[in-house]
Amino acid sequence: MSDVTSSRIEGFHKMDPAARLQAVARQAGLDNEAVAGLADAASGQIDLADRLVENAITSMAIPVGIATNMTVDGRDVLVPMATEESSVIAAVCNSAKRCRATGGFKTSTSGPVMAAQIQLLDASDPENVRLKVLERYDEIKAICDETDPLLLKFGGGFRELDIRVIDSAEGPMTIVHIVVDTRDAMGANAVNSMAEALAPKLEEWTGARSLLRILTNLADRRVARVRAVWPVEEIGGEQVRDDMLSAYYFADSDPYRAATHNKGIMNGISAVVLATGNDTRAIEAGAHAFAAKDGWYRSMSRWEKDADGNLVGILEMPMAVGLIGGATKIHPTAQANLKILGVKTADELARIIVSVGLAQNFGAMRALATTGIQKGHMALHAQNVALMVGATGDEIDKVAAELKALGKVRQDIAEEILARLRSGA
Ligand code: NAD
Repeated sequence: MSDVTSSRIEGFHKMDPAARLQAVARQAGLDNEAVAGLADAASGQIDLADRLVENAITSMAIPVGIATNMTVDGRDVLVPMATEESSVIAAVCNSAKRCRATGGFKTSTSGPVMAAQIQLLDASDPENVRLKVLERYDEIKAICDETDPLLLKFGGGFRELDIRVIDSAEGPMTIVHIVVDTRDAMGANAVNSMAEALAPKLEEWTGARSLLRILTNLADRRVARVRAVWPVEEIGGEQVRDDMLSAYYFADSDPYRAATHNKGIMNGISAVVLATGNDTRAIEAGAHAFAAKDGWYRSMSRWEKDADGNLVGILEMPMAVGLIGGATKIHPTAQANLKILGVKTADELARIIVSVGLAQNFGAMRALATTGIQKGHMALHAQNVALMVGATGDEIDKVAAELKALGKVRQDIAEEILARLRSGA
């Protein structure tokens, strides 16, 4: 690790990215090779990076691969996935192939409805505040809709008021939820703007003080659901199916296992969310909060055996993704990936994303209930380890092949193999 001399860089945000990179290099003691590497990494993308985030110095490419074999609601679809993790894309291809005979993935959604929260404090009677707000329903609707006429034009806008009085360590507080149809937008900016416009009026009407005004990522009114059936012969027989069910019951009963089980689902979900320029953190926050909605953290998916002995998987989760706003519209790779997907609405995108999540879950559970996860990871992992020890060109495949043959993908062994190859022995 480099020793940064100081974290103060005067006027850093006003510099252009090249000047920022030089300033960081000076302060962090980077050599010319490291600087050139960082500059190269952003090739063709630095202006975009500079527009998307503050203080940009470079850009970081994440591989995009295509999941094949997916059929969603009767339509075959090629799914771009952005991920740095090996085996993720292969698992989706394999799982999707195994349920093609039963028609692939069948989905439904609840509609693109988001909510923002406005926190009201310092009221002598929070219940009274609740009633006073409810009396202003029509004015609230008008204020929200006036804030975003474009959204209205596309058929979205204010839909509902939901007001809760919650207990907290500092006493009860009134929480106003404005529920908004955000159409093809993820909707964070849309509902945040409405919440901010509304808050002063709520203060005026109730005498309470408004504090936070922000969307909730627990988008439980914007869920996407998927179901798929894997024929028992495609799974590897009844024992494998039953072991996969045991794996599911384990995840559904134990948060230690559920965290990893759900991480597997998110391997697929986040990869498509990222490939389409959507907000991975928003989706992840919503997914995990929803998984704990019953009061304990459990499996996001449900698995069961049908009357014919086939394995049925179900996944239902919040899926607040958009085609408008954020990086989706601005990032050319996100735009190209949306073209590959062939989606016209955010709703269609949400359906595909949950399908990928279920496929991913099937793949991971099947691997774990049979050969274990490492076998599938071996080939690409061996290449990563070869790269890690400094192999280049042909050496990468040679080192990886030997590691695989040994069945031990370890850095120390990779170093020995590379040294031997280079010495010509
Ligand atoms: P946005 O405000 O950029 O775009 C949405 C707006 O586009 C709508 O309000 C509407 O005016 C307009 N629009 C045009 N055509 C539309 C159509 N067909 N359907 C719907 N709206 C249409 O983006 P957004 O979706 O409101 O916000 C998403 C961004 O907010 C993401 O970048 C996200 O990272 C960020 N964000 C997230 C959080 C969070 O999740 N907690 C908080 C703040 C910001």
